[in-house]
Amino acid sequence: MSNIPSITLNDGAQIPQLGFGVWQVPDNEATPAVRAALQAGYRSIDTAAIYENEDGTGLAIREALAGGLAREDLYVTTKLWNSGTRDWSGEQGRDAVLREFDASLAKLGLEYINLYLIHWPRPMHGSYLNVWKALEQLKADGRVRSIGVSNFGQEQLTRLLDEAEVVPVLNQVELHPYFPQKELRAFHTRHGIATEAWSPLGQGRELLAEPALVKTAEKHGRTVAQVVLRWHLQNGVIAIPKSVTPSRIRENLNVTGFELDAEDLAVIAEIATGKRIGPDPQEFDWN
Ligand code: NAD
Repeated sequence: MSNIPSITLNDGAQIPQLGFGVWQVPDNEATPAVRAALQAGYRSIDTAAIYENEDGTGLAIREALAGGLAREDLYVTTKLWNSGTRDWSGEQGRDAVLREFDASLAKLGLEYINLYLIHWPRPMHGSYLNVWKALEQLKADGRVRSIGVSNFGQEQLTRLLDEAEVVPVLNQVELHPYFPQKELRAFHTRHGIATEAWSPLGQGRELLAEPALVKTAEKHGRTVAQVVLRWHLQNGVIAIPKSVTPSRIRENLNVTGFELDAEDLAVIAEIATGKRIGPDPQEFDWN
């Protein structure tokens, strides 16, 4: 078991601060990757309907449960793919959400999931509040423990805070040292919403070769990936790095036992470019 800290969400549930993401992992490769992650000590797995690997992910999870891992010691997240040409408004839209959830749950082969997220806000369609009401229903029915959102901006969060019954437990957004999301994080903190980072390693591109980070890593006798994940943890952010390489899977979990100091944090703050890797969710839709 790892000694990764947990964060208490606004509904009382706890989530490990470090999880394992499986975006872009084909279904058949998700099984060995999630198996390796669970063996390494990860206790939180992040998938989504659109990743098309809920089957393979579920297989590895069920295998671990059959092997003695307690369900309550495991945190499973999946996401509603609320894009496409389907109409997500009205009662019909809410029924569609419930059907999508059923499909995800069946693929994962679990009795419940810990966290269900709206994958994209699609503000130009204006249906996210209606979709959120269906998630509230799923939570009330006990089919999912917690509900949250992904890629939401302050405008959509404000609307949920004003008009919905349940406050999202977290918002999963692009976040890494190049794009630290300081303003949005402060907004989350003010409203009791946790921040979860997607692409926490900047998708493993130039960020991991950034000279300032290489120096910081050398100073601590760690890798750049470990320094970046440590930065997320010290910021109170939940991170869900992805890798299919067992040695990196283990490396990414080994981020306790050292502390970034004020100088390190200042160096990391310096490299922010404010540039996203992914599209801007305020303007972008997948249709
Ligand atoms: P990431 O930042 O986790 O980077 C992953 C890549 O970094 C790997 O493919 C590998 O190339 C490299 N890498 C990983 N560990 C390494 C190490 N120790 N040393 C060197 N290189 C290493 O990128 P990601 O997969 O985009 O994001 C993580 C997870 O976030 C996804 O798997 C998914 O679960 C989630 N996500 C969510 C959304 C969303 O819209 N909600 C979008 C993107 C990703």
